[in-house]
Amino acid sequence: MLKKITGIFAALVLCLSMAACNSQKDKSLEANNIDSSSKINVVVSFNPMKELAEAIGGDKIQMSVMVPSGVEAHDFEPKPRDMEALNKAKVFVYNGLGMEGWVDGALKSVNNKSLELVDASKGANLIKIEKHEEEHKENSKEVHGEYDPHIWLSIKEVKIQAKNIKEALIKVDEKNKDYYESNYNSFISKADDLFKEYETKFNSIANKNFVTGHAAFGYLCRDFNLSQNSVEDVFAEGEATAVKIKDLVEYCKKNNIKTIFMEEMASPKVSETLAKEVGAKVEVINTLENEGDYLETMKQNYEKIYNSLK
Ligand SMILES: [Zn+2]
Repeated sequence: MLKKITGIFAALVLCLSMAACNSQKDKSLEANNIDSSSKINVVVSFNPMKELAEAIGGDKIQMSVMVPSGVEAHDFEPKPRDMEALNKAKVFVYNGLGMEGWVDGALKSVNNKSLELVDASKGANLIKIEKHEEEHKENSKEVHGEYDPHIWLSIKEVKIQAKNIKEALIKVDEKNKDYYESNYNSFISKADDLFKEYETKFNSIANKNFVTGHAAFGYLCRDFNLSQNSVEDVFAEGEATAVKIKDLVEYCKKNNIKTIFMEEMASPKVSETLAKEVGAKVEVINTLENEGDYLETMKQNYEKIYNSLK
């Protein structure tokens, strides 16, 4: 009997090791998740955190994303299944800075003492929200932080976020340290290359002003010495009043704005009206709040902004 079990075990081990060798060729084995139990269970708040965690955690982690695609990240509220995921997770990554207004409340009701919390904004170089927007904030029903939360739209700051995520993964999964370090280094090196390419491009043009749907690009502007004006504020709030639109029209005319950027979920109608009024075209820009591969999407955003300015 024992011999038989040993025999079965040996056959199983052989099968598994063959499966591991063949995993590149046979994707169906991956779908069966042979080693899913050994993967680190990571919950992330929304898409940019998913992209970063994926870049560093690779196939050593399995991930669930709280804010579903198509939901405005600023307005999300967690569901019971999200709490369930947090109870089972090893690591929870969130952007911080009030981007996830629900996070403190959610963490209070989580029953998971060993959950490793990653406030990915820790150590980032922050931009304080301008005073007129703070005033507006007091009128809004949600309470936001005093800093602009869109740090993931800066490659400089996203490198800090990636580092925070890498360190948390190493902390809970020390044995795969080299793997995480190597993925992190490769991400940073690609990010640096992309940054340098567009630093040169943006430096070469005199025109620095662009107009967008909601004021998500403060950090991107700081990185490249650009300046944004927008229909909605930092938190995708603020009504597009007649006065606001009139101001924007004047701004566009004065700055010779040829393109109005628009996000799918931030006042597309207003962007279109504005574009018509000043004879500009409308172009979609992606804040990654819902979807998009990080470096690829940032490159597209950079290129679109660059083309609108040159
Ligand atoms: Zn936003």
